[in-house]
Amino acid sequence: MSDNASSKSYKFLKKLGVNIWLKTTVKDYDGSIAVTSATNFNTKTLIWSAGVMGSPISNMDKSLNRGKRVITDQYNKVKGYEDVFAIGDVACIESEADKRGYLMLASVAGQQGEHLAKNLNAIANKKKMKAFVYNDRGTMATIGRNKAVVDLPFLKFSGIIAWFTWMFLHLMLLVDFRNRLVVLLNWSWSYLRNDKGLRLVIRKVKRKEG
Ligand SMILES: Cc1cc2nc3c(=O)[nH]c(=O)nc-3n(C[C@H](O)[C@H](O)[C@H](O)COP(=O)(O)OP(=O)(O)OC[C@H]3O[C@@H](n4cnc5c(N)ncnc54)[C@H](O)[C@@H]3O)c2cc1C
Repeated sequence: MSDNASSKSYKFLKKLGVNIWLKTTVKDYDGSIAVTSATNFNTKTLIWSAGVMGSPISNMDKSLNRGKRVITDQYNKVKGYEDVFAIGDVACIESEADKRGYLMLASVAGQQGEHLAKNLNAIANKKKMKAFVYNDRGTMATIGRNKAVVDLPFLKFSGIIAWFTWMFLHLMLLVDFRNRLVVLLNWSWSYLRNDKGLRLVIRKVKRKEG
């Protein structure tokens, strides 16, 4: 996202009491000490959220990049194959200018799906395929209650309006009216009660014998 979204997110997280270590990578963890490039942390709990790697398909090693994503051309055709296509998270449209390809996002996967369907029809009808170009309609992220960041192609904003924008859009993306209504009622109830999404079990659980 934009520098503006990054710095706003930084401020929001600080306000929430999060300690942030930028430009720091985790090197090792033995169950007690997390070794990082900056310092060591004593901790019994480590939550890894630094991303996922593609699940490689056997015999396709030569078509995989560093992140184990399948390298494709602009037509989503897998490198080294004429009749194999890959789209979404598993694929990476690699070019000289951009080795990392598009971000692993649902909107990219969705657009690639529609595009590839048209290209497969084009092949069937002996027509020319069209190169895939991602139509970036914007990115948004929610950070916490009343805190979110929105980067639209023509406008960038953050805070409570961004948060409501995020919720409205995600509500609209749900299929059928009943789902939207149920989620809206649940969210409104949680918002009014200041209900936290995270619930910790802090009392002892009595187990039934036998
Ligand atoms: C925690 C999290 C939050 C995210 N939040 C966002 C967000 O806010 N906005 C956004 O745009 N994107 C978000 N993403 C990314 C988004 O989910 C992905 O980019 C998107 O789902 C990619 O779609 P896909 O169809 O390529 O893969 P997937 O949605 O992963 O679908 C692949 C499917 O293939 C199935 N599969 C795998 N291997 C096999 C096999 N061998 N045989 C049969 N089936 C198999 C899997 O079970 C899965 O159902 C998030 C991802 C994560 C993990």
